[in-house]
Amino acid sequence: MMLACILMFSLFIDQTMSDYMREHEEEMALQEAKVVARFVSLLPGDFSPPPQQIGVKSERFAALHREIGLMAATIGARITIIARNGLVLGDTDMSYGQLLHAANHAKRPEVIQALEHGFGLSERRSATLDINFLYSAVPLERNGIQMIARVALPLKHFYQQQNNLREILVIGAAFGMLFIIAITFWLGRALAKSIQSREERLDSQVRERTSTLSALQELGSLLAICNNLPEAGEILESHLPQLLPGVSGALALMNNSRNLLVVSHEWGGTWKKGEFKSPDSCWSLRKNIVHHSRKNELICKHLKDKGKINAVCIPLMAQGEVVGVIHLKETPKRPFTDMELDIAKSIGKETAIAVSNLKLRETLEQQALLDPLTRLYNRRYLEERFDSFIASADREEMPFWLLMIDVDHFKKYNDQFGHDAGDFVLTQLAKLFHQHTSATHTACRLGGEEFAILMSGIPHEEAMAFSEALRLSVENLPFMFEGRPLGEVTISAGLASYPQDGDRLSSLLKTGDERLYVAKHRGRNQICDAALVEMNRKKDATD
Ligand code: GH3
Ligand code: MG
Ligand code: MG
Repeated sequence: MMLACILMFSLFIDQTMSDYMREHEEEMALQEAKVVARFVSLLPGDFSPPPQQIGVKSERFAALHREIGLMAATIGARITIIARNGLVLGDTDMSYGQLLHAANHAKRPEVIQALEHGFGLSERRSATLDINFLYSAVPLERNGIQMIARVALPLKHFYQQQNNLREILVIGAAFGMLFIIAITFWLGRALAKSIQSREERLDSQVRERTSTLSALQELGSLLAICNNLPEAGEILESHLPQLLPGVSGALALMNNSRNLLVVSHEWGGTWKKGEFKSPDSCWSLRKNIVHHSRKNELICKHLKDKGKINAVCIPLMAQGEVVGVIHLKETPKRPFTDMELDIAKSIGKETAIAVSNLKLRETLEQQALLDPLTRLYNRRYLEERFDSFIASADREEMPFWLLMIDVDHFKKYNDQFGHDAGDFVLTQLAKLFHQHTSATHTACRLGGEEFAILMSGIPHEEAMAFSEALRLSVENLPFMFEGRPLGEVTISAGLASYPQDGDRLSSLLKTGDERLYVAKHRGRNQICDAALVEMNRKKDATD
C-alpha cells in the first residue's frame, strides 16, 4: 500500500515537473523566436525579397543568411527565416548552396500557427540530424513583406534534464521505500516488544491475582472450620501477613456488652493485644464502610495515640450487626493499591462471617452447657470437661476433687412455700456457689436440688476446708422469698477424689453419692469424706 502510494506520488511529481519544464522550454523558445524576429526586422540592408521575386534564387538573401548565422551562434539554436509563401530565406544549419534547394516550409505546423495566431510551436524529429527539435515561430514584417522567424531548439538538453529528474525521483522513491521499510520494520519490532511486555505484565498480574484468590479461598475455608474465636484469630495472624506483606494490623472484637472493641489478635506490632476502645472512636463503624485515616483527612480517634500512622479500618458486619473491626497500617510512602484494598475488603467479609458464626456457636454451646434456672454449668458440661480436669490434675500431679451436694429436706420448701420458693432457694444457692468458686473451682447443677463442685490443684485439707466453709455459708445465708422467711437451708455433701476413687466420672459420682448418703445418714448439714466414711464404718462396727 505504502509502496503503491510512493509510486503514484513519484509519477505525479514526474508528470508535473515534466509539464513545467516543457512549458519553460516552450516559453524560452518563443522568447528566442521573438528576439530573432526583432533582430531580423531591425537588420540594415535590403534583403527583403519583393513579392514577385520570392521563389527566385536571389543574392539578396545571402546577407540575411550571414547575419542570422551570427545570431544563432549567440543563442545556441538553429534559426530559419521563412517567407510567407514557405520559401526558406535563411537557415543557420544550411550552406547558402543548400538554402537555394531547401524544401518549401509553408506546410510546417509552427509556420501555419505563426501566420494564424501570431506564434507557433511544434516538436519534430530532424531527419538530417536525427534528434528532436522544438520549433518556435513568430511572424515579422520587413518592408511590408511578412516573414516568419523560426528557432529550432534541440530537445536533447530538455530530455537530459527530464532524465536527471527521473533519476532523482527514482533514487528518492527508492530511499523513501527503504526508509518506509526500515520504519515499518522498526515499528513492527517495537510493537511486538510492547505487546510481549504487556502480555508478560498481564500474565504476572493474572498469576498474582490467582495466587491471591487461592490464598483468600484458603483463608475463608480455614476460618469456616474454626472451632472458636481464638483459633480464628490465630489463622488471621498467620495468613494476613502473607496476603498483605509488610502490613501490620489487628483484629478487634466487640465485647458481649457491645460497648467496647477489644484487640484480640495483632500482627506487626503496631497494636497490642487487650487494647480496647469505644466503637464510636472508629469512623469505619460509624459510617459502616471501609475508612482511610490519612493526613489532612478524618482520622479515627483510636489512632491518636499511635503517632502519625495512616490506617485503613474495615468494619466487620454480619447479619446487620457489628462484630468487630480489622485495622491495617498503611505506609505513607506506599499507600494501599486498589488490589490490596480489595483483598482487605474480602478478608473483612470472610472474617465477619466467621466471627459471627463462631460467636453464635459459642452462645449455643454455652446454652447447651448451662442450666437454665441457675445459670450454672450442667451435667453435660461436667461430662465434656471431665477429661480435661483429669489431664490438668495429672499435669500438676495434684488430686482432683468432686464435691456432691444435696439440699437437705428440700421438698419441704416446695411443699410449704410453693415451687417458686423452691426455685428461689436453688438460684440463691447457685449464686453462693458461684461466688465461692474461683478459676480452679467449678460449680455445676447435676439436676433437681443436687449440685457438684469440682476442685483442682489443692490438697485434701484445702478441699475439706473449702467444703466446710461453703456448708457454713449456706447455713448462715438468710432466705427470704416474697417477704417471707423460708427458714434455715442446709446442705449435705460427699467428697470423692481422683485418682483415689477412680478415673471415671461415673465412679467419682458414685463414690461422692455414697459419701453424701453417709452425711445424710449422720444427720445432714455436714461434709463426708473417705476418712469420715471409715470412721463411721468403725463406729457402726463397734455399735
Ligand atoms: P433429702 O434431705 O433426703 O435430700 O430430702 P429431700 O426432700 O431434699 O429429697 P427428695 O428427693 O425427697 O426431694 C427432692 C425434691 O426436689 C423433689 C422435687 O419435687 C424437688 N425438685 C426437683 N427439682 C426441682 C426444681 O427444679 N425446682 C423445685 N422447686 N423443686 C424441684
Ligand atoms: Mg436429692
Ligand atoms: Mg435433698
